[in-house]
Amino acid sequence: MKPYREMSKEELASEIEQLRAEYRKYQGMELNLNMSRGKPCKEQLDLSMGLMDALNSDADLMCEDGTDCRNYGVLTGIQEAKVLIGDMMENNPDDIIIYGNSSLNVMYDTIARAYTHGIMGNKPWCKLDKVKWLCPVPGYDRHFGITEYFGFEMIPVPTDENGPDMDMVEKLVSEDDAIKGIWCVPKYANPSGISYSDDVVRRFARLKPAAKDFRIFWDNAYGIHHLYDDRQDYLIEILAECKRAGNPDLVYKFASTSKITFPGSGIAAMATSPNNMADIVKTMTRQTIGHDKVNQLRHVRFFGDIHGMVEHMRKHADIIRPKFEMVEDILQENLGELGVGSWTVPKGGYFISFDALEGCAKDIVAYCKKAGVEMTGAGATWPYGKDPKDSNIRIAPTYPSLADLKIAATLFTLCTRLVSAQKIYE
Ligand code: PLP
Repeated sequence: MKPYREMSKEELASEIEQLRAEYRKYQGMELNLNMSRGKPCKEQLDLSMGLMDALNSDADLMCEDGTDCRNYGVLTGIQEAKVLIGDMMENNPDDIIIYGNSSLNVMYDTIARAYTHGIMGNKPWCKLDKVKWLCPVPGYDRHFGITEYFGFEMIPVPTDENGPDMDMVEKLVSEDDAIKGIWCVPKYANPSGISYSDDVVRRFARLKPAAKDFRIFWDNAYGIHHLYDDRQDYLIEILAECKRAGNPDLVYKFASTSKITFPGSGIAAMATSPNNMADIVKTMTRQTIGHDKVNQLRHVRFFGDIHGMVEHMRKHADIIRPKFEMVEDILQENLGELGVGSWTVPKGGYFISFDALEGCAKDIVAYCKKAGVEMTGAGATWPYGKDPKDSNIRIAPTYPSLADLKIAATLFTLCTRLVSAQKIYE
């Protein structure tokens, strides 16, 4: 089939008629499918049921250093968990704080602390006239939700297959001391699936921010979430690179086991410099006597070490890789020649990012919904939910079964064709 833009009016009109008829058939199917959130499917969750057996009532809940995990204390996490998560994050265990079950919560908390009390003796952000935040786009809606909640002015930064536009980042942070941070998902990003190039990571580590309390929020949520054994992205480790660049305190790096074991019942962590850590711990002592050490120990006993975790991630990949590949095949087969969209083909993570023709994303998502397929809201990948081109749509293939996903992805391509054809015809 030829690209829609090369079709005559008559050809387009007949295509639209055919697509509408097909769409009506889907409407009659009363579907109720969901490609909206990046959740593991049941089979993935089943992989971690061994967590439930890792500790039982006979278990020895003492750590190697004699800490009784049942009791209070050990604010920054048990040593065994720091070693495991340190390996997962490629950081020294001494640079790790283990938290509760959610890294997003740690990001929120980190901003809340800077807002009320300031970072390392700097003025609390609540006392400033204006706080601005850089938001690489497309990005993660819940990141943007946090900085919107605190009333920061969010500045979109374009990204390409190498990461954010670093000319823009360097210029903005060096000129404006109201810019206090940037959201980054450096590996298998949400939603594009891209990973930052070496040059981008090096330039991040060498930023010269006008604000002393500017921090990079380096959310390494998908650090070990590869889809392939033989095709993986490798990143320069940001903490070490910041140290080499003479900028050791520039970054907070986050991760969790949410999409490794159970989202909501995993363990979250931050890796950062000793100065940042001391600053954070001052507040932590007021917040809690310690996080859930039993869950930390449970994870350590379940995995053994990083090799156990890597093996475990292979099993995840075996479940979700066919889903990604199927969606990519359906996109290619149904849209490949039509010139109505482009999409990413990630080597890891949880998402495919789809760019429709300008002005079409909202309608495509609405058409999908009317036929029973829920997509992430159009615009969600932009600050304030406003995609100026109304073109980006996040596709989350992991949760539905292969059979459901086939229907949902096919319907998505049908809606994309219909909305695009109508748009071009107008
Ligand atoms: N960061 C990114 C980039 C994510 O995509 C997600 C979940 O989708 C999270 C953080 C949530 O992490 P957690 O479950 O540790 O709060």
